[in-house]
Amino acid sequence: TPHQNLSTDDVLAADDHLIQSFADLNALKQDNARTVIVSAKGPMVRDSTGRDLIDGIGGLWCVNVGHGRREIIDAISNQLETLDFYSTFYNFTHPAAAALASKIASLAPGTLNKVYFANSGSVANDTSIRILHHYNNRLGRPNKKKILSRIGAYHGSTYLAMTMTTPQYSENWDTVPDLVHHLRSPHFWREGDGMTEAEFLDRLVDDLKQTIETTGAENIAAFIAEPIMGAGGVIVAPAGYHARMAAVCRENDIKYISDEVVTAFGRLGHFFASKDVFGVQPDIINTAKGLTSGYQPLSATIISDEIHDVISGPGGTFLHGMTYSGHPAGAAAGLANIALMEKEGIPERVRTTGKQFENGLRALGDLDIVGDVRGSHFMIGIEFVRDKATKAPFDAADQIGLKVSQAAQERGLIARPLGNILILSPTLVMTPDMIDQVADILRDSIIDVQ
Ligand code: PLP
Repeated sequence: TPHQNLSTDDVLAADDHLIQSFADLNALKQDNARTVIVSAKGPMVRDSTGRDLIDGIGGLWCVNVGHGRREIIDAISNQLETLDFYSTFYNFTHPAAAALASKIASLAPGTLNKVYFANSGSVANDTSIRILHHYNNRLGRPNKKKILSRIGAYHGSTYLAMTMTTPQYSENWDTVPDLVHHLRSPHFWREGDGMTEAEFLDRLVDDLKQTIETTGAENIAAFIAEPIMGAGGVIVAPAGYHARMAAVCRENDIKYISDEVVTAFGRLGHFFASKDVFGVQPDIINTAKGLTSGYQPLSATIISDEIHDVISGPGGTFLHGMTYSGHPAGAAAGLANIALMEKEGIPERVRTTGKQFENGLRALGDLDIVGDVRGSHFMIGIEFVRDKATKAPFDAADQIGLKVSQAAQERGLIARPLGNILILSPTLVMTPDMIDQVADILRDSIIDVQ
């Protein structure tokens, strides 16, 4: 195909027409610091200069089984040969979407047995809110619509998903007014204010209770939370947080939505993390990314039988649908990806290799500018500080995360800067040697910069 033969300069010229996501478009224009990725295999990607780099961000927290897996590529191609496209609108369905919905229902916890497919985590989150609003309309509770989210959350970039995302992500952009309330961030290391972790947890639960009291449970549809906050800086809430928040929600008839766009499909050592890692039975799980390991765009909104019973009772049509919901190629990719994960025992393996990764990176905590290493298994954030004792941050102008990531890339590792934080969310298929190599590269890169 002709585009595969373009030179780097040709790609960059063509790229002037492409708008890149979450990029400073002005800076990109000025310094042209784009990396052109041309191919990928296993845990590695290759750039247009021919350099092989360890993919320390797994594409974008998504290429869980690694790049170039023949089983998934063949499944997609076979599916396209047989049935390239048919929709799941009206009374139509097809084998791939049906089989994947059934497979997901068998893996999801409790009575989460009904699946709505879309093509991104953002739309999965959006869909879950539309469904719950409709659910409350059907139950004759038209005011029960507000959503509780959290400072630090990332739920996506549709208007609604961005409204649920932490406000820092929409500076100088707009969000839907009067719909979402952001509860306190569960970031103990930064926000602990001299409290014990148990006191801090009480404060978070009180914040929820007070918000419910002020707003009225009759006006609140749902609480949405990532098991571990990802794009907000890899923030792990205090132990027991999710169970306590879910209990308060249940007492107040507020649905608990778990945004498992990142945490599902092996990243934390289980197919789903909310129940198996955090002991919470959500009313809805939204997932995407690792569902196909990124080989096709696909998301799933997985709802409880109870919610489904209400929306499928008499009283109107399910007025929601995207042309590509349950696209055959996406569904085939999901089925092949899950089959591969089961055959190779990837979630189980991550319980060992992910711990090795986590421990290796935690050991960087001895370096002068490393204030905090947090996260779990293959989802890690490293926060840099100017002063370890006071946790004084670097100035944004220091671009410390960017500098460390550039040093790492020169040494053969892609890592993602987020202000003063460096994020690692690699494929789940690195060998133990490569896992050690990532920690070594990061140590050398941080020493370079500090
Ligand atoms: N939710 C979480 C927790 C995410 O990390 C992301 C994306 O990074 C999303 C939702 C949005 O997913 P997408 O980018 O596929 O729309």
